[in-house]
Amino acid sequence: GSDKSSSDKTVYKVGTEPTFPPFDTTDEDQNIVGLDMDLIKAIGEDQGFDVEFENLSFDGLIPALKAGNIDIVAAGMNKDDEDRQKEVDFSDSYYESKLFVAVTEDNTTIKSVEDLTPDMKVAAQTGTTGASKVQELKDAGKIKEAVILDGLDTCMMKLINGDVSAVINDKPVTEAYIKKQPDKIKMVGEALNAENYGFAVQKGNAELVEKINNGLKHIKENGTYDKLVDEWFNK
Ligand code: GLN
Repeated sequence: GSDKSSSDKTVYKVGTEPTFPPFDTTDEDQNIVGLDMDLIKAIGEDQGFDVEFENLSFDGLIPALKAGNIDIVAAGMNKDDEDRQKEVDFSDSYYESKLFVAVTEDNTTIKSVEDLTPDMKVAAQTGTTGASKVQELKDAGKIKEAVILDGLDTCMMKLINGDVSAVINDKPVTEAYIKKQPDKIKMVGEALNAENYGFAVQKGNAELVEKINNGLKHIKENGTYDKLVDEWFNK
């Protein structure tokens, strides 16, 4: 739960899974940094609260929130997901995103999700919308194996090493991986969905949702939001 800082501000614990650049990542000293962190910090400055960050697996975020071990999830989490809406409450959307199929740059056979075949393994990160898509493909007999892994960095490594044929993941984040290792990965086909990222809080915590929404509105009005998005997407 929340605590008080030395300045006597409420300190909210913010949980994330930091293999999701530029939203959630780590710096050279393994500090948790990213657009999500800077946005929630700026929202806190506007609304008079402090934040500290906790590193969890993506599928551990909602359980940690429900248990009261963290107060806010800031993890590029799709707020339109109906199963999640039953368990937590979300702020207004702060970013629009889409899922895409990623393959290795030299792949000439997979041009869209339709080209995946029943001999293929496809990876995604545990508990994500991408993992649900991969599981759907597996259940429909369209691929051989759903490879559901803890970190997105591991998914991308397995793709580059040829252990899996494709990864299903959020477009802006796959783009960040492409930037880190140019000429290794590309995205193919059409978007598989459209999603909206929201900050999640415990179900019924209307006060905190309102603080986050008000802060978000203010940082959009005063230019901080655009400045931070620009900074993190042009690193
Ligand atoms: N946007 C996706 C989801 O909501 C992935 C989030 C992530 O991997 N951090 O599940």
